[in-house]
Amino acid sequence: MAKNISRCSFCGRTEAQVEFFITGIDGVQICNECALQAAEIVKENTVAVNRHAAFDRTQVPKPAEIKEFLDQYVIGQDEAKKHLSVAVYNHYKRLMQAHADDEVEIEKSNIIMVGSTGTGKTLLARTIARKLHVPFTIVDATVLTEAGYVGEDIESILTRLLQVADYNVEEAERGIVFIDEIDKIARKSDNPSITRDVSGEGVQQGLLKLLEGSVVNVPPQGGRKHPEQKMIPVNTQNILFICGGAFDGIEKKIASRLNTRVVGYSAITDGEQIDKNNLLQYIAPQDLKAFGLIPEIVGRMPVLTYLEPLDRTALRRILTEPKNSIIKQYVKLFKMDDIDLVFNHDVLDYIVDKAIEFKLGARGLRSIAETIMMDKMYETPSKKVKKVVITLPYAQSKLEKANANRLKSA
Ligand code: ADP
Repeated sequence: MAKNISRCSFCGRTEAQVEFFITGIDGVQICNECALQAAEIVKENTVAVNRHAAFDRTQVPKPAEIKEFLDQYVIGQDEAKKHLSVAVYNHYKRLMQAHADDEVEIEKSNIIMVGSTGTGKTLLARTIARKLHVPFTIVDATVLTEAGYVGEDIESILTRLLQVADYNVEEAERGIVFIDEIDKIARKSDNPSITRDVSGEGVQQGLLKLLEGSVVNVPPQGGRKHPEQKMIPVNTQNILFICGGAFDGIEKKIASRLNTRVVGYSAITDGEQIDKNNLLQYIAPQDLKAFGLIPEIVGRMPVLTYLEPLDRTALRRILTEPKNSIIKQYVKLFKMDDIDLVFNHDVLDYIVDKAIEFKLGARGLRSIAETIMMDKMYETPSKKVKKVVITLPYAQSKLEKANANRLKSA
């Protein structure tokens, strides 16, 4: 009897037409293909629900929670962490009030982070992104040029945001964009050989439009390779911009401002000693202007924070403390071959010393460790060993053999 043929309760196919059935009570069954499809539907809807839930007040992480999360991955930089955490928290609040019609409108507070290269600006941005329930993207300001020149148009910054939001414009309109290397679009007026400042002031004017909050026509594929593409209008009013840059040499501007003691400027009281080794901590908006950012841009980034230079203690902590620290990663790699990997403590100090000696900062820790570990990673998987100990003489011999110049340019 036809009725006895077993069929999927969802698509009606017979057992012969699919791979297998999963049977429920009362003779209900689902084929492997429908089960997969059902799982997809569940996944999609959960994402949608989660995004929505992010705007439920109880779900929004408090600034202290965000900072605690950052602490697990980024060493030090408390000032910057606090500013970022508050900015992200307030960003959520602003999104929640978007439809409220009372008179107090919460304006957005774009952020600018100043700190030498390799001190954790991008790492902070990447880490905070993991905690967010809004679209987030990192773009590099160095590729930006004025419209009509080789390079990317300003609007392409939003292309990336649209892409991570799966082209859901409404989602993208409440996202966060991290613009790295913002100092590279500073005006270069000191340089007389530049007749047309293609990547300077013009780009800043363009960027200003985004920061201010306006409707911008965004090329969905980015770039100029697709001239036929239809632009997507995106309102930037609620998009939070976080900018980061090394601003090499800005210490000079800070120092000269501190020495001239502009009348009426009293942030540094007379009795206070100025810490000349870390002038960045005194950074003020006028220093950014002196560096070459136009006043309007500076005005649109009301939160100005800085990153500390990484000293020996910080570098040593970076090696072992973050949740995914370099050392933890090597231990894990070896564990996958059932090998216990141990670094003697003096090896860790040695790696830090060398990173400082080669002036490589935190980025150098990885390249130095990699040089020391290369042979062990090559040899041990084929050996029957259960334990590998990295000693100081071993580390020294590996690093001395390597061409230090190669490391320096890493
Ligand atoms: P920046 O953007 O400031 O130039 P990055 O964030 O790219 O620097 O840092 C480079 C690398 O150095 C990171 O990937 C990370 O491994 C390490 N690093 C830098 N600063 C820190 C920090 N404060 N805590 C932990 N790791 C850090």
